[in-house]
Amino acid sequence: MNVAMHNAPLWQRHLTVPRLWALWRTGRRVVTLVVAVDFAALLLCATAFLRSTITASDLLRFGLLAAMSVVYLELSRQVDARRRLFVAVDSSASHVDVTSVWTFAAVIVLPPSLAAVTVAIAYLHISARSVRPLEGWRLYRIVYSAASMVITCVATSVLVQAISWERRGGNEALRAVVTLAAAMVVYRAVNRLLILAAIMTSVGRLRPSQWLGSRKDNVLELSMLVLGAATAVLVVQVPPLALLVLPAVFLLQHRALLKQLVEAATIDTKTELLNAAAWRQLAQRELERAGRQKTATAVLVIDMDHFKRLNDTYGHLAGDEALKAVGEALADELRGYDAVGRFGGEEFVALLPSVDGPTAVGVAERVRERIESVQVRVERRTGGIGSIAVTASVGVAAAQGGVELDDLLRAADGALYAAKAAGRNAVRRAPTQVTTAA
Ligand code: GH3
Ligand code: MG
Ligand code: MG
Repeated sequence: MNVAMHNAPLWQRHLTVPRLWALWRTGRRVVTLVVAVDFAALLLCATAFLRSTITASDLLRFGLLAAMSVVYLELSRQVDARRRLFVAVDSSASHVDVTSVWTFAAVIVLPPSLAAVTVAIAYLHISARSVRPLEGWRLYRIVYSAASMVITCVATSVLVQAISWERRGGNEALRAVVTLAAAMVVYRAVNRLLILAAIMTSVGRLRPSQWLGSRKDNVLELSMLVLGAATAVLVVQVPPLALLVLPAVFLLQHRALLKQLVEAATIDTKTELLNAAAWRQLAQRELERAGRQKTATAVLVIDMDHFKRLNDTYGHLAGDEALKAVGEALADELRGYDAVGRFGGEEFVALLPSVDGPTAVGVAERVRERIESVQVRVERRTGGIGSIAVTASVGVAAAQGGVELDDLLRAADGALYAAKAAGRNAVRRAPTQVTTAA
């Protein structure tokens, strides 16, 4: 975004034509999905309005929820801006929207028509007030999110009305709990499906881990829905106390931001392995433990062979793809408690707790073979897509008991040098076991 645009009045920024029309440049599948979902949401809204009767108490509850949604966003804009910045910088970072608290509460206590209006207000407010000097910001994406949310809300609302939790008779408490739980499941499932549909059409493929979302995302989303349910109960029973939910939502959002900050500080974005600083910390802790328990530790330094040549021949993007693929292979090949990190450039490190020298050489050999089997997709100079193989050399060093991390790394580095000298795509082990300096 250029400076002139940043200073433009809000309404002008909204009507910037290229952004508005960005959708049409995204490809037919995305356009079809977005138009279909937006249209379905409009249709559902219209039907909901034609079929619902709105009472005075509905309007009061609606007013309270809409006001809480607006007030919350105003109070938390600073936090939200930082969180969104992270989401934009690292697209893998999760986007868990706290609007769910208000929209879920609306679904529980309001007729579908007013629940849809609550969604519309929340998203209009977000698009007008969120700080978004971000490249990825597109009006059609916000509209798609809002439309998905409308569909989610109407679907959940229909379910809630069917169970009708305010109906008298029977075990009311039990019915309320069952209704809320069912509503949470439907709300989450419908919303997730619509998000997955968007990822699927724009990226073209889904990783299995994306189906259910990460544990972290699910815990946060569940917390939001529980808070939404609590808000709903308060809005019906003791409306003024509903305001107590505001600080709780703020704390949850803060916690989510903190988690993303920690991740950004410890994870290498290109390979999703530990970054050098985080790896060193973890390795140091493991070595201290090995010192106390008098156990063995091994370290592998893995350096890609002729990586410069790959970059020069196929470009840096292909180089990055290779790094990503090798990172994935390493994470997959080594055990969960082997700390794997990207040490810098095209060099990786792994610390293997309770592993002696000979065993570590076996592991290193397995890792080397696995890297050899990695296929990297590249664009050939002559045009067309092809795939190439990569190799790496591995230096191994082992220690008994507590030693200095730098001594261990120096020994492994020496072994790596020997592996390179031996012609690359090879494993070498430091000749002596590293011991504590007297
Ligand atoms: P050797 O087999 O001796 O290790 O040769 P090499 O070419 O792999 O080693 P060298 O140290 O000469 O070059 C490493 C190259 O790795 C240079 C640098 O451009 C490239 N590189 C470092 N980090 C990145 C990165 O994040 N992405 C890409 N694409 N290339 C990187
Ligand atoms: Mg290299
Ligand atoms: Mg290197």
